[in-house]
Amino acid sequence: MAWFKKTRKPMASAKGKASRVPEGLWVKCPGCAQVIYNKDLSTNLNVCPKCTHHFRMTATERLRMLFDGDWSEHDPDLVSTDPLEFTDTKPYKARLKAGIEATGLKDAVITASGTIDGLPAIVAAMEYGFIGGSMGVVVGEKITRAIERAIEGRQPVVIVCASGGARMMEGALSLMQMAKICGALAHLDRARLPYISVLTDPTTGGVTASFAMLGDLNIAEPKALIGFAGPRVIEQTIKQTLPEGFQRSEFLLDKGMLDLIVDRREMKTAIAGALRFMGAVATAS
Ligand SMILES: [Zn+2]
Repeated sequence: MAWFKKTRKPMASAKGKASRVPEGLWVKCPGCAQVIYNKDLSTNLNVCPKCTHHFRMTATERLRMLFDGDWSEHDPDLVSTDPLEFTDTKPYKARLKAGIEATGLKDAVITASGTIDGLPAIVAAMEYGFIGGSMGVVVGEKITRAIERAIEGRQPVVIVCASGGARMMEGALSLMQMAKICGALAHLDRARLPYISVLTDPTTGGVTASFAMLGDLNIAEPKALIGFAGPRVIEQTIKQTLPEGFQRSEFLLDKGMLDLIVDRREMKTAIAGALRFMGAVATAS
C-alpha cells in the first residue's frame, strides 16, 4: 500500500532558477495593500492611484516634478571631509561611499536653478536615500549658497525637506548648519524674497527645528511624518500615550504648525500660485 508514501517527487523549488518577473516591477502599497504596477506609480508622481498614499521620491524626481524643464545644478562636487574621523558601527567614510554609490550624489541635497511655471526660482531638494537625508556640513553649505545665490539674483527659494535630522557623524559641525541656514534665510527675508518650505515624509530632527518650519509658507504632503524627536522618545519622557495621528501633517495643520497640505500632483501649481501671490514674476523670455 502506497497510501502514506510519496509516489511522486516534490516539485523542484524555484531556487536557482531565474524568475520570469523582474525585480521591482510591482510594489505593494502600504496604504491600501493594493499591488501596483511600478510604471503606473511613476507616471502618477509616486502617488498610489487607489488610495493616494504618497510614496517617497528621490531628489532628482522632485526637481523633475517642480521645474518646467532642464535645471542647472549648483555645487554638485562638494563632499564631506569627515572632520571628526568618526566611526560608529562602521566608519563614516564607508557610509559616505555607500551613499554616493546608492544615489549617485555626493551628499544629501541637490540645489538648482530653473523655472517653476515660468517663474525663475532656486530649489533645494533633499535626498533621503543618502544617509537618511541627514544634514551635515555639505548640506548646510549647499543650502546656504543656494539662498545667497537667490538673494543675488532676486529669486525665490523653495526647499523640499526629507531628512532624519542633523548628521551625528559630524557632531557639533552638523548642528551649526541649523544656525547658518537660518542666518541666510534671515538675509533672504530682509531682501523681501519669498521662501517656501515643502515638508515631505519624513522631516525630523534638526531640519524641522530649523529651516523646515521657517517658510513664508510651510506646505506639507499628506500624512508625512513631521516632528523633532521620535514618538517613542516623547512617550517615554512625558509618560503619556500620544494622540492618534501625532506628528503627521494633518495633526500639525490642525495645531497651526503648517499652512497647507497639498497633494503632490497639485504641488507645482500650488507653489507657483503662492510665488505669484508673493510677487514673483516670470522672465520676459
Ligand atoms: Zn494605496
